[in-house]
Amino acid sequence: MTSRILVMPGDGVGPEICREAVRVLDVLAHDHGLDIELDEALVGGAAVDSAGDPLPEDSLAAAREADAILFGAIGGPKWDSQPRDKRPESGLLRLRSELGLFANLRPAILYSQLAHASSLKKEIVAGLDIMIVRELTGGIYFGKPAGQGTTDAGRREAWNTMRYDEDEIVRIGRRAFEIARARGGRLCSVDKANVLDVSQLWRDVMNELATAYPDVELSHMYVDNAAMQLVRAPKQFDTIVTTNLFGDILSDTAAMLTGSIGMLPSASLDAAGCGMYEPVHGSAPDIAGQGVANPLATILSVAMMLRYTLERGDLADKVETAVGAVLDRGLRTRDIMDDETQVASTQEMGGAIVDML
Ligand code: ATP
Ligand code: MG
Repeated sequence: MTSRILVMPGDGVGPEICREAVRVLDVLAHDHGLDIELDEALVGGAAVDSAGDPLPEDSLAAAREADAILFGAIGGPKWDSQPRDKRPESGLLRLRSELGLFANLRPAILYSQLAHASSLKKEIVAGLDIMIVRELTGGIYFGKPAGQGTTDAGRREAWNTMRYDEDEIVRIGRRAFEIARARGGRLCSVDKANVLDVSQLWRDVMNELATAYPDVELSHMYVDNAAMQLVRAPKQFDTIVTTNLFGDILSDTAAMLTGSIGMLPSASLDAAGCGMYEPVHGSAPDIAGQGVANPLATILSVAMMLRYTLERGDLADKVETAVGAVLDRGLRTRDIMDDETQVASTQEMGGAIVDML
């Protein structure tokens, strides 16, 4: 069956990096029997400029019909002074909630070839390979009641509610157990069950689910300890599952341990396995239009798309192997450069992956 892929390039470096990822999809379709149909839609600042809306109705309709979305990046200084509903970011938040993308997958991997790259920070951890599964549509960001007001004594006050029902925990838990099973077989659930009732429910449901996955070793960790362990000894982790708020913080922490923002992909999946795939980095307005952005985060997002939506793990492996082989050859964009390697443009890097495939 033909899979429909919608490309939403967005702003800044988004169009440049998506162009290279689309070349990868094209070569897989042409030479490796991948059955896809590609379409493109406006989102973010580009959509504000041409349609006055960061997520125009026809873009949302196209997104609903797609099996998978390849998303570039959105935003930039040009739109920072817009009212909130006309900000590029509100288009992305709306897309996530309209499509019910409740499972956010953030691998933190440092390719061994980059362990000594002089352009990367010194804190990087060679050989790191963690998958963080973050619940994306519930928890304190969405729980009711939420609001602000005034106390009887006349002081300003504000409140948010961390709320999960068991179905929400079951669906993210199942997804995490399945991912852990396909990886190293170890799942660490992160919560704050010593203080929060909602965390105790989270922990109970994870324990109940564990009986259906006897081949996965489940452990629990309080979030404060998890933050410490992630920095102290990050290689102890295989797959981590956690709530929206804790996952927001821990996934950025883990990303920084790799030091290579231009290399990190992500996926956000719905209940049926349809999803949106995008680089972790933003629109990088400081380098947009210069042809120097690293396209590998987006190309690795295509690999995740192949694995999690298109059910072509074989091709996902091929793409990831091609990325490793191109790094082995010494090709580097500016952000991952070191002294002995060859500097490649966005297009040269994409072309090298295409040639390798
Ligand atoms: P956002 O708020 O959209 O997340 P941000 O300001 O937090 O944006 P990015 O847009 O990700 O961050 O950029 C952070 C830094 O990393 C910038 O200096 C940018 O040039 C660099 N950067 C981001 N993506 C890439 C890439 N693909 N290749 C090279 N450098 C990148
Ligand atoms: Mg940011």
